[in-house]
Amino acid sequence: MSIVDVIDRAKSEGRTVLTEIESKQILDEAGIPTTSARLATNADEAVEAAKELGYPVVLKIVSPDVTHKSDVGGVRLGLDSPETVTAAFAEISEAVKRHEPNARIEGVAVQKMARPGIEVIVGMSKDPQFGPVLMFGLGGVLVEVLKDVSFRIVPLEPRDARQMVREIKGFPVLQGFRGQDPADLEALEKLLLKVSAFVDAHPEIEELDLNPVFAYKDGALAVDARIVVG
Ligand code: ADP
Ligand code: MG
Repeated sequence: MSIVDVIDRAKSEGRTVLTEIESKQILDEAGIPTTSARLATNADEAVEAAKELGYPVVLKIVSPDVTHKSDVGGVRLGLDSPETVTAAFAEISEAVKRHEPNARIEGVAVQKMARPGIEVIVGMSKDPQFGPVLMFGLGGVLVEVLKDVSFRIVPLEPRDARQMVREIKGFPVLQGFRGQDPADLEALEKLLLKVSAFVDAHPEIEELDLNPVFAYKDGALAVDARIVVG
């Protein structure tokens, strides 16, 4: 399905927030690397999807009423067998029902467990004056507590992407520390430029969150994605 089809279908169903599966589908098409995800509506479908993707896999809740999936027990990582997938499907459903009794549950997203990397985030929001603005930062505590992020107005030039990556205070983390691999800065810059081009070409996209993106010594991969359309 094309980007436009995915957005149109969501709109026709009265939804403005795309699921992780839909968001990744259209990012994939825009050439932005993700761990693409498949919907499973029961444990057998989840096991089937895991078999096709290859173990280990990750299961996550798919619900229009859940924004922070791990906060409601909706994420299970590193599942390496049909048994653990079956158990995780039931555990996720129960945990979400307990935390969020009124949440509509569409099913569970099955995706490959990505190898660990440095967690960074890429976001787009619309400023009333400047229009779409891209944000970059390190994931987790650094972004939430220290607000260590950089911003540029869309569309980005290559030098904007270069600066965005380098001007955060946490930049040394991306250069490698305590024996950790340095991040592929070129891949991060490319990702920022692709996201910029993508949101520039699709003004109906109101908000975009890649949180986190795993930065590797060779490449970068978005493992969570959320897109809001107008
Ligand atoms: P939330 O809605 O809570 O943000 P995420 O999809 O971001 O849920 O998952 C929570 C955390 O689990 C991520 O920050 C990341 O560290 C890890 N994670 C998520 N998806 C994957 C994956 N496919 N492979 C490896 N780790 C993952
Ligand atoms: Mg996330």
